[in-house]
Amino acid sequence: MPHKRDDIFQYTSEQLRAFLDERNLRHTPERFTILSQVCRLQRFTIDELRQSLTTLTISRATIYNTLSLLVEARLVQKLEKEFGVRTAQYELVGVTESTVQIVCQRCGRVSVVKDSTISRMLADKRWANFIPDHYSLYLFGNCKVCRKKIYKKQ
Ligand SMILES: [Zn+2]
Repeated sequence: MPHKRDDIFQYTSEQLRAFLDERNLRHTPERFTILSQVCRLQRFTIDELRQSLTTLTISRATIYNTLSLLVEARLVQKLEKEFGVRTAQYELVGVTESTVQIVCQRCGRVSVVKDSTISRMLADKRWANFIPDHYSLYLFGNCKVCRKKIYKKQ
């Protein structure tokens, strides 16, 4: 997966084209516009995606359908309730690779944190029957804002 934004869009567009061809689906401009926003946002909720598309006349149904297609095409992954998030969040697959993400189980906020200790530890680790490519690590807990709310209640 490339790292520059334009390259990411080019790369994912090619994958989407192949996926649509495989299923005999049309290459509509809306699908590619939505994909370009997904590439720009990288991690988003449906509302955030919809807000980023307000200047265009793309129906809510098209946004939902395209997002499901992108999930099916494995270009986007959905973080669901198994992650303890309240609002489903989506992220571009591959771009967020080798990251540590912290998930607040109360408000559902997901943030990426850089931690050189963890990345070094995983890079140095040798596996007997496995060669790792990248990792995605999720830490669950309560964010600062939610912790304050919890203490206030007590
Ligand atoms: Zn929170």
